[in-house]
Amino acid sequence: MSTTLPPGAELELGAEPRLLRSHDILCVRAANPGPFTLSGTNTWLVGRAPAWLIDPGPLEDGHMRRVRGAIVARGGLGGIALTHGHRDHSEAAAALRAEHGAPLAAARGEADVMLAAGVRFGPLQAVPTPGHAPDHVAFVGAGACFTGDAVLGQGSVFISPDEGAMAAYLRALEGLRRREDFSVICPGHGPVVWEAKAKLQEYLEHRAERERALLLALDDGRRSVRELLDAAWPEVPLPLRGAARATLAAHLDKLGSEGRLPAGVERPAGGAGA
Ligand SMILES: [Zn+2]
Repeated sequence: MSTTLPPGAELELGAEPRLLRSHDILCVRAANPGPFTLSGTNTWLVGRAPAWLIDPGPLEDGHMRRVRGAIVARGGLGGIALTHGHRDHSEAAAALRAEHGAPLAAARGEADVMLAAGVRFGPLQAVPTPGHAPDHVAFVGAGACFTGDAVLGQGSVFISPDEGAMAAYLRALEGLRRREDFSVICPGHGPVVWEAKAKLQEYLEHRAERERALLLALDDGRRSVRELLDAAWPEVPLPLRGAARATLAAHLDKLGSEGRLPAGVERPAGGAGA
């Protein structure tokens, strides 16, 4: 993948927070690295006086200090938007909401603004992107798409096997790919993606590739979770095996709803737990 940045679009180097100068978007990265969070959760701020915050991240002292500093530097907080309810994105939401008296927007749970397709929240517009979580939304605003865990800066995401999740996820990615109102992806984890359309295409192709591998394995007569994982997710390291099992279930459900699933296929039990 190319790492060439448009002129003036580079991330400011050095200590965090980092500024995308071309879009005046600030990234504060939490120090919670891991197999699911890559180098940590990205908290984003757009706009000034007030600023709008996407995914406050974990309730961790250093992260909170940097987020608070960024809010002050940008002239106060207009609102807090959640891409989804997982703790690595949402844990600090209640504290910031109480401190700043700023409204919280989410697609589920205790929110001041309930998000749904097209709902506007300050400079942000909500775009439902179910799949990783049923309540997952992306936000388009300031010429960027804030994708949470629907699209990461590197690697792929796991899809939770809720009913219709995989098909809905693919439709959402396709919808984002067709939009013309953003040029950059600001993901929930990992680096900024300047080739936004190429990344969305890559994600769509990645899911199609997994499905092809799965269909081949099914054609070969493989039926157990272990056989199907070995065939379609051969490279997945142990810590991500549970996530692969969940995503396998979501793929099997899609094939089932399309009448393409042979009899006797074992479906993984339980969720991915993250
Ligand atoms: Zn996450």
